[in-house]
Amino acid sequence: MNQSGGPAGGDLTGARLLLRRIRTVMARNLPAQRRLDEIARTIAGAMVAEVCSIYVLRAGEVLELFATEGLKAEAVHLTRLRVGEGLVGDIASHARPLALADAQHHPQFAYRPETGEELFQSFMGVPVLRGGRVLGVLVVQNKTRRHYTEEEVETLETVAMVVAELVAGGELVGREELSPVTGIGVLPERLEAQVLAPGLALGIAVLHQPDITLTQLVAEDPLKEIERLDDAMSAMKLALDELLEQQDGTGGGEHREVLDTYRMLAEDRGWANRIIEAIETGLTAEAAVQKVQNDMRARMREIQDPYLRERLADLEDLGNRLQRHLLGQQELPHARDLPDAAIIVARNMGPAELLDYDRQRLKGVVLEEGTASSHVAIVARALDVPLLGHCAGLMDKVQAGDSLVLDGDNDQVFLRPSEDILQVFASSMRARALRQEAYVADRDLPAITLDGVAINLMINAGLLIDVPQLAATGAAGIGLFRTEVTFMVAHTFPDVARQREVYGRVLDGAGGRPVVFRTLDIGSDKVLPYWHRDAEENPAMGWRALRISLDRPAMLRQQLRAMIRAAGGRDLHVMFPMVALVDEFDDAKQILDLELQRARDKGQELPVGVRVGAMFEVPALYWQMEEIFRRADFVSVGSNDLAQFVFAADRGNAQLQGRYDPLSPAFLRLVGDIVRAGQACSKPVSLCGEMAGDALEAMALLALGLRSLSMAPPSIGPIRAMIRSLDLGRLQAHMAALGQQRGPDMRSSLRAFARDHGVALS
Ligand code: PEP
Ligand code: MG
Repeated sequence: MNQSGGPAGGDLTGARLLLRRIRTVMARNLPAQRRLDEIARTIAGAMVAEVCSIYVLRAGEVLELFATEGLKAEAVHLTRLRVGEGLVGDIASHARPLALADAQHHPQFAYRPETGEELFQSFMGVPVLRGGRVLGVLVVQNKTRRHYTEEEVETLETVAMVVAELVAGGELVGREELSPVTGIGVLPERLEAQVLAPGLALGIAVLHQPDITLTQLVAEDPLKEIERLDDAMSAMKLALDELLEQQDGTGGGEHREVLDTYRMLAEDRGWANRIIEAIETGLTAEAAVQKVQNDMRARMREIQDPYLRERLADLEDLGNRLQRHLLGQQELPHARDLPDAAIIVARNMGPAELLDYDRQRLKGVVLEEGTASSHVAIVARALDVPLLGHCAGLMDKVQAGDSLVLDGDNDQVFLRPSEDILQVFASSMRARALRQEAYVADRDLPAITLDGVAINLMINAGLLIDVPQLAATGAAGIGLFRTEVTFMVAHTFPDVARQREVYGRVLDGAGGRPVVFRTLDIGSDKVLPYWHRDAEENPAMGWRALRISLDRPAMLRQQLRAMIRAAGGRDLHVMFPMVALVDEFDDAKQILDLELQRARDKGQELPVGVRVGAMFEVPALYWQMEEIFRRADFVSVGSNDLAQFVFAADRGNAQLQGRYDPLSPAFLRLVGDIVRAGQACSKPVSLCGEMAGDALEAMALLALGLRSLSMAPPSIGPIRAMIRSLDLGRLQAHMAALGQQRGPDMRSSLRAFARDHGVALS
């Protein structure tokens, strides 16, 4: 019960009673404005509030007072607030409720004399939400100081759903105004995005979230609704099982694991209970699902934790599915009826939703949210569907039927591109397809320069599904297996048995070709969803990689144990990331030696040969080069991290991208020194950062003396073509001459060399 003892606000019966009254209003054949007025009056009466006001969002991000009971009538259609302005604007901009006993002293309070609201002390408002979008704000106010209860906020939220349907009906404001950006759908635009699954795509926008229109929001008989919910839940789970079964055989174990975790969420009692609670307030089952989804979306806005965000995104996916079952629609209505080249556009998406779409016609996906570790991204990579995420403003700017270009090479999306851009992309995609065919045809050709220098080309991998790329590209092995990826896609720490299975399957898939397993490199941008850690000021330079492994040796021991078991009877290559001090390398190697001894004592089959390497990523290692080369069996330069530390430039910061060139004399000198130090100690040096996969940069690396490069699989073909067209001796002479000049522009001059000497730079 609330403090003022209102009969209808606090308990479930009250909420139900209020909904019933509102249903009577909705059933009357009245113009929308009259209905809105009636609704305001009914809410005020039922919630014992002196004021109930309804603000509707108009074009230009303005909230207009559309109906009020209790404020001055002349303020209707006159009082307008910007989104973000005053308490009402604050609710709209954050899409979250606000309940204040003393509203006038709140810093956001904006006084509007025409309303006469100075009389009212307490204030409760909720957003009017539909499909994740704010359509308005619903407010009640009281003269006296009143502490609104959580139940009252909930009741108001429930009623706001009815108001949302009334607003979306298009009678109060035109439907075109309900799209928040004016001028939508006319001009071409370029949006920045982040590549979550690589590739290029060209097609027609299909909005993922079909607008589900709920005609029945209020129900008389909660028991009947709960029964409907149970039936729909069972039907949904059955359909999900069928869908997931069809996926067997697609991709590797991680992709399966993601889908299984998602399936488990359908059994989540908490979720089902929240829907039942909403039904008990008087909503139909489908409206109750929508209510829980609205709440969840509001929570999503506040939550930073990637694990929780992921779970909420998955639950949203399940909620949509459940609603379709309640409404008698089996699947996404348009999922099997796509245009020939469809690009799905969504705020976010669960992993199974992607599977609903017709794979033949689905060319790409773009999400307003989404991160590289999101479940949908993992599934997209497994299915080889280009996916761009983190695309701010997407949902406000795209309309169904717009043409779209996803440019995964340059982290951008073109909206309604001009004919010129479309043609450029179409021809570059054709050329790319042709080149890919040529690379496949050349995959068995040796990577040898024109003057006879053989180069070892390896791939970087992180998932089991990457391993077949060895055969597809003809690479010599896996130069970097990022073991943390297995940890990132799991929902708990993989135990020794699970890790052993993964490493064993990687070695099986490699079929005798070397695989360099890098021990866990978590921290920085690589987040384990189930491991909650304190936020760090500078995570890239924080508690990550080998530092964590040495501070939590049990984790490292387990990982090494799994590797030793998986490699029994075969070669084992282990590499430690982010070594800053040789002592760290010694400590990690000692743990490995102890594990080997343990395996020996237990009579297990040991790896045939064990090679232990260090990643050269921290500049401090430059002054310990002799020591590290004496200790390690090999060194791999992690140029991504090394460059970020050398230039003090965050590798993930888009603003700094391209500002510091790894082809600058300073960085090349550093890499050259590392290579020479390795040669002096007769220890192999490789490079596994992004540079290795860029034809021009890789060409420079060869001139510095590198003979082994590890890269993303799609780069193997182009790099092999570059090598086979290069006279390395000539390039080295050219670079030596450049070294005599002051401040040469290495990039332009190397590009000119390639052009003049017919080096294939794709
Ligand atoms: C690197 O830093 O260059 C590297 C290969 O490691 P990662 O990109 O995984 O940090
Ligand atoms: Mg690194």
